[in-house]
Amino acid sequence: MKDLFIAGAWTDSTAQTPATRTIYNPFDGSELATVSEATAEDVDAAVAAAKRAQPEWWGSTSATERGDLLRRVADLLVRDREELARTECLDTGKTVKEGRIDVDDVVSVFRYYADLADKDAGRVVDTGNPDAISRIVHEPVGVCALIAPWNYPLLQISWKIAPALAAGNAVVVKPSELTPMTTIHLVRLLAEAGVPDGVVNLVLGSGAVVGERMVSHPDVDMVSFTGGLATGRRIMAAAAAGPKRVALELGGKNPNVVFADVDLDTAVDYALAAAFLHSGQVCSAGSRLILHEDIHDDFVAEMARRAEAIVLGNGLDDDTECGPLISAEHRAKVEKYIEQAVADGARLVCGGTRPDDPELRDGYFLRPTIFTDVASDSAIVQEEVFGPVVTVERFRTEEEAVRLANDTEYGLAGAVWTNDASRAQRVAGALRHGTVWINDYHPYLPQAEWGGFGKSGIGRELGPTGLDEYRESKHIYQNTRPAPLRWFAGNGGV
Ligand code: NAD
Repeated sequence: MKDLFIAGAWTDSTAQTPATRTIYNPFDGSELATVSEATAEDVDAAVAAAKRAQPEWWGSTSATERGDLLRRVADLLVRDREELARTECLDTGKTVKEGRIDVDDVVSVFRYYADLADKDAGRVVDTGNPDAISRIVHEPVGVCALIAPWNYPLLQISWKIAPALAAGNAVVVKPSELTPMTTIHLVRLLAEAGVPDGVVNLVLGSGAVVGERMVSHPDVDMVSFTGGLATGRRIMAAAAAGPKRVALELGGKNPNVVFADVDLDTAVDYALAAAFLHSGQVCSAGSRLILHEDIHDDFVAEMARRAEAIVLGNGLDDDTECGPLISAEHRAKVEKYIEQAVADGARLVCGGTRPDDPELRDGYFLRPTIFTDVASDSAIVQEEVFGPVVTVERFRTEEEAVRLANDTEYGLAGAVWTNDASRAQRVAGALRHGTVWINDYHPYLPQAEWGGFGKSGIGRELGPTGLDEYRESKHIYQNTRPAPLRWFAGNGGV
């Protein structure tokens, strides 16, 4: 088993006794694979390989060539689409259909950065002096540590790898220890596409050993992390010792605001997808539904009816609509939140328990859960549950809706539903969230920046800003007619 990719070679862990980790299928707890577990020394070797390779990679390739390489990766992803979608399903529990959507999105991201790679070579700056030339050029940051979570393994790591390579960096990649399989596959494709040895390195393992070593390594110039708020804080604190550049994509507690003038059928349909897609294990999940009081009761009744009908099951089956949660530990955490919400006086409208179906007994399933009559300052409303749980609050005025939607320490994404175009713009403008959807939920585009206000993170992925994260700007100033300055008049006896 050689699952670490260091300096262009697939290698095993250097641990004294062979170190491995078993990967489980969350649908039934069965063993999916056993993979190598890196040591801190393996991380050191990966960083050293990246440091050696990066100057040559940057110095010997044009931006157009780096773009061409990303385009070849995109073509290979298309070739392996079905296998990748299936692997993502087995590894995360999401449906194959969602896995296919993830691969398609990843293909677009590689193509987007392939196209962008050579489009911005910097700019010329007016010096105000006819004898001076000034320009701004972009250079890579250097060695980047890229750390990803388990909910969108292939997608999240690709949002980092594609712009990092386009900009000329070398990278050390770490997927979540729970879901490494599609990242291993992606690194194979990068090698097949012709990434030079050492430019992309893969280490597998825990955050505590492998992740921490990546972040604290003195030769790592930048850390790009997607994951939870608590981990983000640790990473930022560790990076401060450098200091090194940090990009953080953290959690969310995302409002979905619905005014009374909308088509109820459509808004309920989207509210279900917002809350329960991938069992709510989505950073931008619409986990805080904020309803106008006139539609509150009808909306909740219809949403609960449809939530009860969501087909839970094996992501490999065509008729499955929702898979399990990622692990027994994670489900236990979500169940604690549900218990606490009930104890705090919230009204459980539906769900809240594991499904009865004996076929789902071995998986980490939870029924889609809706709470009403929640206190806005309670844990279930304020904290990221990251499961199939949505809370419902009610409002009377536009002002109240905006206040509730912004009443969160996070600020990743949110939506407003109304047929009043002016109100839609007013509310979208007032929301303190990195993405706002009007009469929609969840779409994102490779060409549009993604990231959070507040405690949802620092920096942006996707779009031109997603490339800038991985570039230094350098100012080159040239005096074309140098002559003595005589600042120090007495110097040299002149
Ligand atoms: P997590 O923070 O537990 O782990 C994320 C990654 O960090 C894993 O690879 C883990 O091994 C690693 N890690 C853990 N401790 C570390 C440390 N001390 N140093 C370095 N690395 C460490 O998050 P998770 O449970 O895997 O993912 C769920 C979280 O990710 C949720 O909060 C979700 O909102 C967030 N997320 C955010 C976005 C976004 O775009 N903002 C997207 C997806 C997920």
